[in-house]
Amino acid sequence: MSETIRPEGTTPMTDQPDDATSVEPPDQPDPPDVAEARPATQLGDLAAGHDDDPTVGHPTVFELENVDVAYSGKVAIRDVNMEIHCNLVTAFIGPSGCGKTTLLRSLNRLNDLIPGAAVSGSVRYRGEDLYGSDVDAVEVRRRIGMVFQRPNPFPKSIYDNVAYGLRLHGMKDNLDERVERALRHAALWDEVKDRLKASGLSLSGGQQQRLCIARALAIEPDVVLMDEPASALDPISTQSIEDLVEQLKAEYSIIIVTHNMQQAARVADVTAFFSVDVAEDGSRSGVLVEQGPTSKLFIRPSDPRTEAYVTGRFG
Ligand code: ADP
Ligand code: MG
Repeated sequence: MSETIRPEGTTPMTDQPDDATSVEPPDQPDPPDVAEARPATQLGDLAAGHDDDPTVGHPTVFELENVDVAYSGKVAIRDVNMEIHCNLVTAFIGPSGCGKTTLLRSLNRLNDLIPGAAVSGSVRYRGEDLYGSDVDAVEVRRRIGMVFQRPNPFPKSIYDNVAYGLRLHGMKDNLDERVERALRHAALWDEVKDRLKASGLSLSGGQQQRLCIARALAIEPDVVLMDEPASALDPISTQSIEDLVEQLKAEYSIIIVTHNMQQAARVADVTAFFSVDVAEDGSRSGVLVEQGPTSKLFIRPSDPRTEAYVTGRFG
């Protein structure tokens, strides 16, 4: 199952101008891991609200088999086997550089836009090979939206930020209604309804991130991928994003990368812990260590590497 399904350099160039919403702003350095680590019991308390088997009754939305992602031949994350279930929040946690962002990008083919990136193995989305030759990457990114670490509104009005993807994808009927619905879904409507013509850049950081979430939701995705969506925000804005994630899972499947274990414990039904493996030759690559109900992962992890991480003894 590990045949290369999109060899390096074969990305059709027609993918490029599809969706400016997919342009990732420059990465921020990750804060240190250990500073956020808390004793497992405390995380366990936070996670305790999450059922022992949250996946029951939730069909699979992604199935990954033997997935490797490499950059210019250097493997960043390898041999990932996992299932993601719909209408749940799945958190990806793990130290900086273990490949969380890389794996997330492989779930909506954003790696296609990175020169030298190659995904191998099998990624199935709702039973279909996401990298199949007949699959349209633009449509993939419509159905599987992305929210980045740093809010990246366009220098356009609040209204046009949300309408952007709708126009791009030809979803132009009832535009006002769709924009309002997306802003309501993103819990931003009440704050902006009287100034829809103001620039998206005039909003606070937390509002900008909710605007980016509204922009992602407007095109009616099935899955929302969030890469550390609150890490650049203050605590109050962070809480509003967390509340929003909790509400959104009724309608969407959500995968959230977070550096903050407290956040994973608060919002995620299922958590996947990734680590960096150092081979004998010194090469480093990310691996999935374990995945399970959030409460189990924080209270009774199966792997000593997970335990070391969640109890702050990492590194
Ligand atoms: P995380 O999100 O867990 O911090 P990343 O997915 O960003 O990890 O990175 C995993 C590895 O892949 C790191 O070694 C990083 O340097 C490398 N990497 C990430 N993005 C790129 C890229 N665009 N080009 C080359 N290497 C990359
Ligand atoms: Mg990252």
